[in-house]
Parts: sequence; C-alpha cells; structure tokens
Amino acid sequence: MAKRAKKKTTGLRPATTLVHGGIERSRFGETSEAIFLTQGYVYETAESAEARFKGDDPGHVYSRYSNPTVAMFEERMRLMEGAEAARATATGMAAVNIALMAGLKAGDHVVAAKALFGSCRYIIEDLLPRFGVTSTLVDGADLAQWKKAVKKGRTRAFFLESPTNPTLEIVDIAAVAEIARKAGARLIVDNVFATPLMQKPLELGADVVVYSATKHIDGQGRCLGGVILGGADFIDDVHTLLKHTGPSMSPFNAWVLLKGLETLPIRVDRQAASAAILADRIADHPAVKRTLYPGRADHPQAALAARQMTGGSTLVAFDVKGGKKGAFAVSNALKITRISNNLGDAKSLVTHPTTTTHQRLSEEARQELGITQGLLRLSVGIEDVEDLWEDLSQALDKAR
Ligand SMILES: *Cc1c(COP(=O)(O)O)cnc(C)c1O
Repeated sequence: MAKRAKKKTTGLRPATTLVHGGIERSRFGETSEAIFLTQGYVYETAESAEARFKGDDPGHVYSRYSNPTVAMFEERMRLMEGAEAARATATGMAAVNIALMAGLKAGDHVVAAKALFGSCRYIIEDLLPRFGVTSTLVDGADLAQWKKAVKKGRTRAFFLESPTNPTLEIVDIAAVAEIARKAGARLIVDNVFATPLMQKPLELGADVVVYSATKHIDGQGRCLGGVILGGADFIDDVHTLLKHTGPSMSPFNAWVLLKGLETLPIRVDRQAASAAILADRIADHPAVKRTLYPGRADHPQAALAARQMTGGSTLVAFDVKGGKKGAFAVSNALKITRISNNLGDAKSLVTHPTTTTHQRLSEEARQELGITQGLLRLSVGIEDVEDLWEDLSQALDKAR
C-alpha cells in the first residue's frame, strides 16, 4: 500500500539496493527473504480486525490486497526506481492495464507511440475504445506528432516504450514528458527493454513507470510478474483498482523476483556487454542487411540513446538478407540460442517478430514500424559471448 513519507532511495548504489532493499525479517532472523504463502491473516481480537479493515492499523488483511513477501518486492523496486510508491501485479500486462485504467474514464483520450508491445497496443487500440476512451497512435520519435495529437482538456495519458520492441527505436522521454505536462496528461513509460538499471524515466520527467518483471527482473524464465511505480496518490488509485479487480502478484512469484533482483546488475551488465560485441560482429556479417543496436554509432538515434540511457541494450535487432527465408534459416541453424518469444533471459533467445509477436499486425502496420520479413530480434543471455558468436556466425553463414 502507498505510504507517503518514505525515503525515495536507500542512498546506496543500485547493486547494493537490489540485494538489501526492502527486506523485512521475521522473528526468526532468516538470511533470505521469507515466502509468506498465505491467503489471509488472523487477528488477536475483533477490535484489531476492525482497526485493520478501517486502515487504522497498517497490517495485512488479505493477500489480494497485500502480502509481506510481495511488499518486500514492491519496496525493493520502489527504492531502485526512486519512486514514492509501488504496487506489484500478476503480470506485466496487468501492470500496463491497471496503470492505464486507474487514471482514465469514458470521454478521455490517450496518445501512445505506435511501436508497442502487441498486447499494449491491443489495450489502447481495441479495449479502451469499448469503454469510451479514444486514442491516437503516433510515431514516438516524432515530437511534433505527440503535440498535434493532444486533444485539449481530454488527453489524460501518454504511453510509450523506449527502446521499442523489436526495432529498438528510442523515444525522447524528457521531451515527451514536457509535452505531456503542458497537456495535463500523465506520462506512463513501459521501461522493460531498458531495465531499471539503464534508464530512469521518473528522473526524465515521466509520472509512472511499468515493468513486466517476467523479463530481466526474473531473468531466468521462471515466472510472470509486473510492477507499477509512481506518485503516492496515483499508486493509491492503482491499489484500489488492483485490490478490487484482482490481478495481484503471487507471494511465491514475488519471492522468485526478489531473488532475481539480487543478481539483476550482474546479469544485465553481462548481457549488455555481450550484446554490444555481438551487434558489431553481426553488422559486419555479409548475410546481414542492417543492424539496430542503441549502443552503436550507426543507430539512427545514437546521441539520444547516449543521453537518456546508461547502456546500450541487452537486445540486438538485425535484418537478414533473403527476408523470411533467410531469417528462418538463421533461426533454425542456431544451436545455443533458442527460438522463443521471451526476452531478458539468462538463455539467449531469438524471435522472428513478423510471424510471432507481431503477427496480429497488418503487413502495412509492420512496415510502418520497420518490422521487415527478414528482421530477427536477439535477446542476449549470460552465456560466454564467444560461444554465442561461434553459434551465430555459423547460422548466418548458412543463410547466405
Ligand atoms: C513482455 C512485455 C510486456 C507484458 O508483460 P507480461 O509479463 O508478459 O504480461 C509488456 N511490455 C513489454 C515491453 C514487454 O516486453
């Protein structure tokens, strides 16, 4: 639950915060965070139950509302992000959906970048209109389009991802935040691709940050989860919506994710370093038409990426010659990197967006986003980079 007067950070560096932040030990003094697999809580007296329900006593009431293990995960994320408050959700999509719904009502309008994770685009394009919330999709990199899309007095939210999936395009968060502020709209940033380590949307002026914890935060392919971070008042509204509609995080998943946060910097540093090396080698391979990596000088927005992010990315996108045939040949020839639509995992994974994650879009919509038939998205894992390259180069050789 949102609490107002909390310190926004531990004052310690991220790697330390991610190991120790938010821990609350039980009377047994356990080293590792305890898993409180309980639906509910018992009260010493009827009076104490009454006080809990009234909110006079801050203890837990029911695990759909809050849970000690989930609360530790929320607090660690809050301290990492430097937010006033945080709430965990069952999945990343629950986080996106609740973050949007909490601040919108019929008659409102949303502006979103069109390069969005498929389900986010479904919520904005298909779901919100059913409840009277209209939307405009813009080219996220074109600031004039954000400005032009604002409907005076009606635009209540801006939504974007940066870097985007799968083409790793960068949106200027500070500039869009300024346009949102002038419009009186809340800027919600889906920060999955950058991770809390490489980009700080709240410092850049965003109001709300959401994550799919399923990705780098778990990072070992085990469970789904999400989190919403922002101002205390907004997170109070999020809490109300969450507790009454139900997509709460399981305490077991919260525990897995707490363990994931401990190793997040080690994994992400390694993944991003390997991704930078692989991006350069992929770009030099004759089977590749174009390589997209925010840490490379030839990225169309390299300067913006360097200003806004403290690292490149753990993902690399590249266009294989020969279109779908070439991309499939590379995917099928890979032995270490596996074909999967997940990302941020310890295991390297490759995706062909056109036929999987972005299959729902029309060919025209895909072309608009630069999602070509030959495009592959590589999520770089923590394996030895030389093994990854040997595997990738033999696969690329086969596509020629
Ligand atoms: C995966 C993902 C989501 C959705 O998260 P789930 O945990 O799968 O529900 C939302 N946004 C982005 C950018 C993602 O990569």
